[in-house]
Amino acid sequence: MRIGIVGAGVTGCLLANKLTNSGADVTVLEKSRGTAGRACHKKTEWGSFDMGAPVIPAYNDAFLTFMERCVSDGVAVRWPDKAFTYNGELNAKNDDADEGKQPVTRYAFPRGVNDACQRWLQGSELKTQAKVAHFQRLPEGWLLWDEQEGSYGLFDSIVMTAPWPQTRLLLEDIPDADEFTGKTSQNWTSCWSVAMEIAQPINTHAKLIHVEQSDIQVVCLDTSKTLSRSPNIHQTWVVYFSHEFSDRHPQIDEDALLATAKQTLCDMFGVSALKVTSSYRHYWRFARPALGEAPIGIFQSKCNTVFAGGDWSFGASFQAAFQASNSLFESIIAQTTKEG
Ligand SMILES: Cc1cc2nc3c(=O)[nH]c(=O)nc-3n(C[C@H](O)[C@H](O)[C@H](O)COP(=O)(O)OP(=O)(O)OC[C@H]3O[C@@H](n4cnc5c(N)ncnc54)[C@H](O)[C@@H]3O)c2cc1C
Repeated sequence: MRIGIVGAGVTGCLLANKLTNSGADVTVLEKSRGTAGRACHKKTEWGSFDMGAPVIPAYNDAFLTFMERCVSDGVAVRWPDKAFTYNGELNAKNDDADEGKQPVTRYAFPRGVNDACQRWLQGSELKTQAKVAHFQRLPEGWLLWDEQEGSYGLFDSIVMTAPWPQTRLLLEDIPDADEFTGKTSQNWTSCWSVAMEIAQPINTHAKLIHVEQSDIQVVCLDTSKTLSRSPNIHQTWVVYFSHEFSDRHPQIDEDALLATAKQTLCDMFGVSALKVTSSYRHYWRFARPALGEAPIGIFQSKCNTVFAGGDWSFGASFQAAFQASNSLFESIIAQTTKEG
């Protein structure tokens, strides 16, 4: 079975892994230069850090088991520190009270989720800088076309794993998707992420801070994610701006963004001034479904050869992307078993 997957994020790469293990011939088409999508690790001349998902919480048993396997495979680590909240003062977050049951287990990928994605893609063919623009159904299968009119295929089945606003547009080429797209609305929101390397390390136990009622939502000491026991002497902090702020300021000036990020760190840690030696920023146009938007499940066409799913199917997180890859896999396999 030949399968074309659009998107090399967590959903696409985990799905590719499962499908190649079951004997399928898989090609993954990715519009950017690399893998991991919104969980990607950015490499720059002065350092590398996570610009998307900073730390990954696991709430259900299947995902916990999967993450523990990533730990034993040496790609992930358990995040050993408590999370904090900041609302004028720093307090350790009470995860037990939060969830009403077990404390949340959090994980990080010190070499980046990209590293894990490369492993999950072993056995698949990855084509980067291939932005799929439309699909064509031929008697022998599906042909995928990119923006430069390059074609890929033929495929027996195709799977879309891009964020919902982008998948929704792609589904316009699929005749029987109208019913699904018509009844499914999900608004998305943006996020500015700013990474800063600082000259003088801040001495603190608070390495993951959820900021309350502010233009900033999360602050993370990225350089504390390490596979080695010795602490990293350089500090790179990543500051994630709130969705409201990011939606209001898609074009904000770099200096203004940096000044707000620096000031937040100064206030939080009682530091009078902070020297930033290097910085990098990224605007996530489609960061996640807006707060309160319901998950929309996966799509399967009536012809049973087109599928779509992503974190948006189950709740806008790394764990939801994992669930989407499982659900898509089960639907594709159920279909081929029926046909066989
Ligand atoms: C700033 C930020 C912070 C986050 N924090 C957390 C967190 O703390 N905890 C947590 O669990 N999750 C967090 N998340 C969410 C988590 O990163 C995502 O849920 C997860 O990575 C989604 O994976 P995915 O594969 O479903 O989608 P994506 O990662 O979006 O992957 C889709 C891929 O499709 C590609 N693509 C899109 N259109 C096309 C096209 N036309 N042709 C080819 N390729 C295409 C994209 O480039 C992308 O690589 C965060 C996300 C962001 C942005």
